[in-house]
Amino acid sequence: MQIQAVRGFRDVLPGEVALWQKVEAIARSVLERYGFREIRIPILEKTELFSRSIGESTDIVEKEMYTFTDRSGISLTMRPEATAGILRAYIEHSLYQLEPVSKLYCIGPMFRHERPQRGRYRQFHQINAEVLGSSDPRTDAELLALLRTLFEELGLRELDFQLNSLGCPSCRPGFRSKVAEYLGTKRARLCSDCQRRLMTNPLRVYDCKVETCREALAGAPVILDELCQECEAHFLSVQKNLSLLGIPFSVNPFIVRGLDYYRRTTFEVLSSDLGAQNAVCGGGRYDGLMGELGGPDLPGIGFAIGEERLVSILEGRAGAPTSSLDLFLAALGEEATEKAFLYLDKARRLGLRAEMDFRGGSLKAQMRRANKLGSRRLLILGEAELSKGMATVKDMADGTQVEIPLDELESAMAGWKEACSQRG
Ligand code: ATP
Ligand code: MG
Repeated sequence: MQIQAVRGFRDVLPGEVALWQKVEAIARSVLERYGFREIRIPILEKTELFSRSIGESTDIVEKEMYTFTDRSGISLTMRPEATAGILRAYIEHSLYQLEPVSKLYCIGPMFRHERPQRGRYRQFHQINAEVLGSSDPRTDAELLALLRTLFEELGLRELDFQLNSLGCPSCRPGFRSKVAEYLGTKRARLCSDCQRRLMTNPLRVYDCKVETCREALAGAPVILDELCQECEAHFLSVQKNLSLLGIPFSVNPFIVRGLDYYRRTTFEVLSSDLGAQNAVCGGGRYDGLMGELGGPDLPGIGFAIGEERLVSILEGRAGAPTSSLDLFLAALGEEATEKAFLYLDKARRLGLRAEMDFRGGSLKAQMRRANKLGSRRLLILGEAELSKGMATVKDMADGTQVEIPLDELESAMAGWKEACSQRG
């Protein structure tokens, strides 16, 4: 019986990889420009790390984690997000002793047992960035500025930056009880999940995607009316700095995000090019989390971009990069084939993208193969060429041909490589 991939887990095929590489290369370039350094953390962590940071009564911890007991009896979880692991590593290696503010990024797979659909998978990839050690509202604005630069360089302009503040432990509890009170009156109209959330974590209702729950929220209290003075000043300063940098945004008081650790600034970036799953990026501030995880009491803020969704927006556009060949070697006869095999390796060691077809076949068949692979040049090594100690090289674009003595072939190939590098 044929074995298929696990539901919600996808292959990225060679034809699609170029776009992923482009996205990641641009992301790395922009992140490094804004002062971020890469950190690579494990996929498996102790389950407790996630239940403590993300929150016991969140969807992720309640029903989406890939958790199992390993052979030594420890409960492990495949990371559903990156912030918790990055903070764990930051604390474990005392990175706070190195710099007052650390900017870290990480690119890789995340795992959540959600219902698979377009734009929603069980293994998906995120580009994560975290700034640890700064509570300055400029840091919040700087992160959004980074996102603007990144999306611009990817050629995405029609994006909607939505912003909210979730307050802090001094103003959120008051808001929370108002929400519980309000939603209590709408109980019957809420989905069964939200009826349960009402008891455990009423703010989670704001994140529900069920239509009737959204309707029930129409007249709900908004956190922005309840912010304490410090939180309000912080939020206003974030907005002032965004305006200073000319970053368009809108305030959406319903953004609560699906993780409990957020405090103050939270944001989402939405794209109208996506269907129902329209969030390309989510993030926010999590001052207090580091202390809860046993580290120093340092503030933090970060974001996560969904790479599948980013790639799918770009897929819809023309001009996806294609890879092509510098040289195809066609040979006729055993002796010539042996020589061609040797020059194939020499070409590659000189830095050229070179290929030949070990099945051999007629010259015509080999030329067809060269065309199919989009090769710039065709090197022909037949019996006639071999007896003269020459190779014929054809420029596939204009059809011109030259003969090159075999003992000059290597330096000719080095020259082609040089020309490729200059073209970029
Ligand atoms: P959503 O509201 O779409 O469920 P989320 O709030 O759960 O997203 P985060 O945990 O903040 O998302 O992750 C940040 C980004 O990661 C999202 O904006 C989205 O682009 C992407 N993402 C989240 N879950 C998935 C998934 N199951 N499959 C693909 N991408 C995802
Ligand atoms: Mg989600």
